[in-house]
Parts: sequence; C-alpha cells; structure tokens
Amino acid sequence: MSGAYFQHTCPVTHTSTQRIARWVCKKCGQRALFAGCRSSMVESWWAYRRRTGIAGFGPHRGFADQLLKEIDPGPCPACAGRGAIDPDADDYPLSCQSCDGSGRAPYAPADLARVQAQVHAEWPPERMKAERQRMSERFPPRSAPTATPSAKFVASLHVLVLLAVFAVLLLLLLLVGHGASHSPG
Ligand SMILES: [Zn+2]
Ligand SMILES: [Zn+2]
Repeated sequence: MSGAYFQHTCPVTHTSTQRIARWVCKKCGQRALFAGCRSSMVESWWAYRRRTGIAGFGPHRGFADQLLKEIDPGPCPACAGRGAIDPDADDYPLSCQSCDGSGRAPYAPADLARVQAQVHAEWPPERMKAERQRMSERFPPRSAPTATPSAKFVASLHVLVLLAVFAVLLLLLLLVGHGASHSPG
C-alpha cells in the first residue's frame, strides 16, 4: 500500500517517531506499529473516482461530498474501517481489497447511481467548463506573463541605471573641479 506509515512511542526515550517503513526500536526492542495511510492529493482524487464514479477534482466536489455523506454505508466490515488487512503483519500491511483502502463499506449501487445523477444534473459538463474558466481567470496559471518583468519595466530600469551613472560622474567631476580650484591657492 502506498503511503503507509508506522509509529513507535518508545517507553525508554519517551519519544514518538513516525516513518514510512516498519522498524524495530534499538532502545526497547519493540516493533513500530502500523499507524495509517497517507496518500497524495492526486492519488486521493483517483481513489475517489474509483470509489464513487464521480470525478475527484472540480467545482462539483462540495456538492457531491454532501450527497455522498447522506448515503455513507459505514465502516468497511472486512477491515473494520482501518483500510488495511492485518495491519500488524511482519511485511507491509495490505490495502483492503473490499474498500480500496478507504476504510468505508461500498456504497449501495442504487444510492450511488442516484447521487451520480444528481451531481450530473447540478453540474452538467457546460457548467463545469464555465466554472473552470472562471477559476482560471481569477487565479491565472504561473506561466502567465506577470512572472517575467515587462519590457516597459526593463526599460525604466535601464533609465534608472543610466541616471545613477550620470549622478556618480557628475559627483566625480565636482570633486575634481573642487580639488583643482583649491590646489593653486
Ligand atoms: Zn523504543
Ligand atoms: Zn476495508
């Protein structure tokens, strides 16, 4: 199972450690225990899609999640809601096949079909597209030209540098002139 992590709270050192692989503590000889699973955001979108048949990412998620909560079937009976089979096995714990590691029982197909239809009715593809467009306008991607300085800005920078050089030259001339006028006297 990707993203599994293990934890050991040591009775000798009184410290708690988390790692992504199981280990045996050298201080007390105890084995670290399976503590759960972390998945990346993208992984969790895919898991959501596999489980619900609804896209994991998009403006419809809040609406879909609300409906799914109403038909939540409770913890998975195969893994008692832990998402893993035999989490304390010596080898890596196996992700529960019945619930795809989610720890929840599968949705009743009729309930799920109803929710899918409701989400589709509320968020038809045209509305999803329009919303994505709106979001991308509000939060322009990083490749937008704002990331690189504009030609106008660069030009004004050149002018500033030239002015600075002029000022320094002027100052030098003044100093030299000043020094020269004093030396004969
Ligand atoms: Zn220990
Ligand atoms: Zn399960």
